[in-house]
Amino acid sequence: MEDLSKYTKELSKLFTSSENILLICHINPDGDAIGSQLALYHYLKERNIRVKMLAPNNLQEFLKWMDGAEQIAIFIKDRKKCRKLIEEADLIIMFDFNQSNRLGEAEEYVKASAAKKVIIDHHLNPEKFADLIITEPSKCSTSELVHELVCEINGTQFLNKPYAEAVYVGIITDTGNFEHGSYSSRTFRIVADILDTGIDKEKIRNMVYNNFSVDRLRLQGFALNKRMVVLPEYNTAYIYLTKDDLKEYNHIKGDTEGFVNMPLSIKGIFFSALFIEKVNFIKLSFRSTGQFPTNEFAAKYFSGGGHMNASGGEYKDTLDNTISYFLKSLKEIVAKSEG
Ligand code: 5GP
Ligand code: MN
Repeated sequence: MEDLSKYTKELSKLFTSSENILLICHINPDGDAIGSQLALYHYLKERNIRVKMLAPNNLQEFLKWMDGAEQIAIFIKDRKKCRKLIEEADLIIMFDFNQSNRLGEAEEYVKASAAKKVIIDHHLNPEKFADLIITEPSKCSTSELVHELVCEINGTQFLNKPYAEAVYVGIITDTGNFEHGSYSSRTFRIVADILDTGIDKEKIRNMVYNNFSVDRLRLQGFALNKRMVVLPEYNTAYIYLTKDDLKEYNHIKGDTEGFVNMPLSIKGIFFSALFIEKVNFIKLSFRSTGQFPTNEFAAKYFSGGGHMNASGGEYKDTLDNTISYFLKSLKEIVAKSEG
């Protein structure tokens, strides 16, 4: 197992020497971003350490039930308050991302802040915008990493139920309920300890996975039926959704979560992409099974990044042009790998 003490000595000192700790997750926070942020929040609270939380934009519905979620200040909803939180902080800890543009509008204020900055993350190739970068790409989730850091510092004495729920949500969402990603035997040992705290895993599963609207399920059917294109010659499939599609199905934040995984269940499809038309750009998600590095593809062509098998990016053009560009890029990458 990696030696986390190289991080925890400094982190532990920062916890006790700082007066105003601010925890920030990435834009469009997923279960792991919120899970890891809330886990550290509950741990610090349990130690009676002053701590506040901020997210660049709104939480998705399936995360709002989590204990402490209502305490997260949303930058785009309350800019004045959030700027003040950043200004007052003497320690800023960032979760589940390693590129500063994932702070959204908060980026410039965080960069300008004199606070000590820490990143806790499991993605590759961190940008160096923090004083302490705690990065372990071998971890299935940032939540797993937070848990190991906390245990390294204090054992299990500050582990309470809201903390355990947060770690659990981070782990199940980043592994797609233990279906993909870099989970290990170690992950299951952590999950075993987490379940021993008495959290209600059925309740959590229902809140995270069985909490959607009729419209969302119908949008999923529509996406598969009418908006999925399969390219067997490239072992690739993609789904696209226009603004009008989303409107017709009364789309709310989070509704398309998981759609990108669906084409991978087709025999012979190893790479999947999802295009979502936004106001001024197209948001892309990529997934693969096996060795195709979607993060390199995302970084090279779509100003993005992520993990080998799960990544994303964006492109500022129309949906049609973005799809054409995607197909061209795909051909280029395939030609290169064959050449
Ligand atoms: P999703 O497809 O669920 O939105 O994102 C999957 C993963 O891809 C995220 O956990 C994150 O690591 C990465 N990702 C998604 N969008 C972006 C992006 O625009 N830029 C970067 N650097 N990473 C992204
Ligand atoms: Mn993560």
